[in-house]
Order: sequence, then C-alpha cells, then structure tokens
Amino acid sequence: MVKKIIKNQKIRVRIAPSPTGPLHIGGARTALFNYLFAKKNKGVFVLRIEDTDKERSDLKWVQNIIEELKWLGIEWSEGPDIDGKFGPYKQSQRIEIYKKYLEKLFKEDKVYYCFCAKEELEARREEQLSRGLAPKYDGKCKSLTKEIIETNIKEKIPSVIRFKVHGTKIKFSDLIRGEIEFDTGLLGDIVIAKDLDTPLYHFAVVIDDYEMQISHVIRGEEHLSNTPRQILLQEALGFNQPIYAHLPLMLNADKSKMSKRVGDVAVSDYHKNGYLPEALINFMVLLGWNPGTEKETFSLNELVKEFSLEKVQKAGAIFNVQRLDFINGIYIREKPIGKLTEVCLPYLPKEAQNLPKKTLEKIIEAYKLRIKKLSDITELTNFFFLDKLEYDKNLLKWKEMKNEDVKEALLLCDTLLSKISEGKWNAKNLEKVLLTEAEKFNQKMGYELKNRGYLLWPLRVALSGKSASAGPFEIAEILGKEKTLSRIQQTLDKLSQKMYS
Ligand code: GLU
Repeated sequence: MVKKIIKNQKIRVRIAPSPTGPLHIGGARTALFNYLFAKKNKGVFVLRIEDTDKERSDLKWVQNIIEELKWLGIEWSEGPDIDGKFGPYKQSQRIEIYKKYLEKLFKEDKVYYCFCAKEELEARREEQLSRGLAPKYDGKCKSLTKEIIETNIKEKIPSVIRFKVHGTKIKFSDLIRGEIEFDTGLLGDIVIAKDLDTPLYHFAVVIDDYEMQISHVIRGEEHLSNTPRQILLQEALGFNQPIYAHLPLMLNADKSKMSKRVGDVAVSDYHKNGYLPEALINFMVLLGWNPGTEKETFSLNELVKEFSLEKVQKAGAIFNVQRLDFINGIYIREKPIGKLTEVCLPYLPKEAQNLPKKTLEKIIEAYKLRIKKLSDITELTNFFFLDKLEYDKNLLKWKEMKNEDVKEALLLCDTLLSKISEGKWNAKNLEKVLLTEAEKFNQKMGYELKNRGYLLWPLRVALSGKSASAGPFEIAEILGKEKTLSRIQQTLDKLSQKMYS
C-alpha cells in the first residue's frame, strides 16, 4: 500500500509543461493555481520542463513558457533557470536518475522488454475488438527467456520497456473530484520507456515528483486517467503518493473541449494582441474557481489570500472571451495614463516615438474608452501619424449636405481656427469658438439650427479621414494648429478636384 503524504510535510507543488508548443491558456491556468496554492500555504512552486520527447520538444518553446509565465507574474522558486536542491529541472538532464530506477525495476522483475512490432500490436488489437473485448496488451513478451531477450537486443530488434500491471483496483482521493476508483485490470502492461536512456512520461513524472518531494499534484483533468498508472508505478517503487487535485476541463462557449479550439490558445497570442497580464490572471482564475463574492478584479496578492482549492468546481469551466475583453477594459481604464501610454507604444507606428510624451498621452486618453485590447489602438489612431489621409470624399457630407456646403463649412472652420493663437489652441477653447458659430452657419445654410453636425462632421472627417473617431476638438488639439489647418486645406484642395462633377 502506498504511504500517504506525511503530516507537516512542506508543501511543494510544480507545473511540468512539455515544451512541444507555446504556453497554452490551460497550462497557464494550472501554473496560476499551483502558484496561488503554494503562496497561500507558504510552500514552494517548482517549474519542471518535461522534454523527454526529443522530436517534439524545442528550446524555443521552453523560452516561450518561461517568458510568458514571467510576463504574467507567476514566479517559481526552483526551475531550469533557478537552481535548487532538487535540480536539474529539465528531464533531458535527468536521464541517469531515471535509468537507476529502471534498473531497479528490472532487478525486481517488475518490468520487461517487449519486442512486439507496431503492426503486430495493431492486428492483435483488431482481433480483440472483433471478439468484443476491450483492447489491451496481451502480455506476449512477458515471459521471454533471458536468451531470447539477449539475442533480440544483440540483433537490434526494436523494443520498449513495459511495466507489469497487476489488475488491482486503485482508489485515491482527489481534492477536487473526490473519491476515485479505477480498475487497472482494464490496462495492459504499460510502456514506460523506449530503452534505459529514454524514459516516457508516466515513468519520468513519477520519479521526478518523488525526487523533488512534490506534496500536491495540481493539474488539468485530462490527466485524471493517467493517475492510476502513475500510482501503480509509485507503489512498485515504494514511493509516497502525492495528493492529487485535478482542475476542471476548459470548455468553449458551445461546451466543446477547449483543446479542440480553433483560434487563440497561446498566452503569447493574448500578450501580442494587447491583453494586460492582470486581466489574463483575473480571467484565468475564474476558469474553475469562484471567490464567492461580487468583487470583480483581484491583484495577485489578493488572490493569494482568497484562493482555496475547496472553492474549485468539478464542472467544466467555460472560456468566454467577452469576459476577458470586459476585464481587460477595466484594467485599461484603471491604468494611470503615463503607464497606459507606455504599454500602448509598441502598437503605434515608429513615428510615434518622435512625438512629445504629452501628445502621445493625449492620443491614448482620447481613445482609452474605445479599446478592448491595446492592439485596437493601431487602427483607431493611425491617422495622427499619416501625412496624407485616404478616404471617400462622400464621407465628408453630413446628412443632406450639398457638395458646395461641405466646402463652405470647411472654409468657415479654416477662417475661425486660423484666428486662434497657439497659446489658446486647446480642445476647450476650440469647442467654444466653433460652437458659437455652428448655429449661425446652420441659419445661413437653412439647416436645422441646433444640429452641430453640419459644421463639425466635415471638420472631423477632414482631420481624421474616418467615419468614427474621437471628437474634432480633441483631435485638433492633438494635431496642433499647423497640421489642423493643413489638413483642412488638403481637404479643400481635394474637393476642388472636380470631385462632385
Ligand atoms: N508534461 C505533462 C503535460 O505537459 C505534465 C503532466 C503533469 O502535470 O503531470 O501535460
């Protein structure tokens, strides 16, 4: 029987990503829950890289995992970049450790070499299925003689190492799922290594969790069915069993599995698109955990205080991007303007670097309510940085305005704005001057008196080239007098180019 975790044992948790792709939202959520659990219990959070799959693992994904976790603020105290007592923290550097345990299992006759070819296994599987049996390895190589094994190895017949599964019932208590029972009689003897130097996942994970003194294994529900296999290995090796907690599956809005999701799942995609780390943290923590309060957002420190595994649900957690956008909006609006401008800068064209900080801040201020994610700023504000605006001239017309009236409106704006000195060139004053004249203009043209659009719409389009933008006064203030007047002039020139003929 496996010994349970010893009382008062230090809490040590880990995440063990395989670097076969970028850090996934699911992986980041697992990291976050482990991190919060460790911090809350004054334990240790370990990052271990599971790179035994040489073909599929890539250093660039290790870097991606490290970078994105750091960006999120999820910090570990032992890992591939921070050595600790239990290192190295990359499985590819721990081959000798696994080998020692594999040899032990060979000595104790708990594993054996299997030489069955893939096609052979497939044919036997088909045959079992045709007889209505649940397919599993039939144990063909279990009792090969020492001589046959040695000859096969000498002849380099491809082989794997199988672990003998005695069909017992495994019971364990999962902190989230409750009591779990599994009949290992349904499993055949499991492949745990390709050879002595090439362990596979189930084996390496069990050795590492033991060697690194992991007290709690908190991971995604997709690993629940792996747990009985890993417990069998722990039993065979005489290891303590860690406490398990399997986090609920992440589901798309239509309740399909998130792993089958098309579209963004990599943390780096959210990062690139301009989601703030604080928003992603708050979004992820609610994928399975409920604080039980109305409070909408939490800092990492607040989460550490509030978090508990007891409040993690069993049911699948729905991934709702609208909620992420909503939370991101809250954090965008909360950010002091200087900081917000700083994080927006990478989403602005390089010409933005030449503008005074104050001007940039005004641009961001004018748009911060309209963006859900930082990358939205690019398209919305591009006109500030262009020399020439391209747009359909018909856009300049407000309601039933006639072509010549647009010209009239712009000529009037030009006259009025030219008179305003640089010192008084601010949105407030521009508004005062133009609004006093708007009514007179409407009267002269025979338009509805109170409708400011006749004067201000053509001006706003002349300055922005867009059907939707911030108001004309803010834009004019940001552009400055010279640029504002030159844009009005450019528009008047454009209108004179036989446009309406
Ligand atoms: N390397 C496994 C994965 O990336 C980790 C499984 C575990 O946490 O035990 O899914």
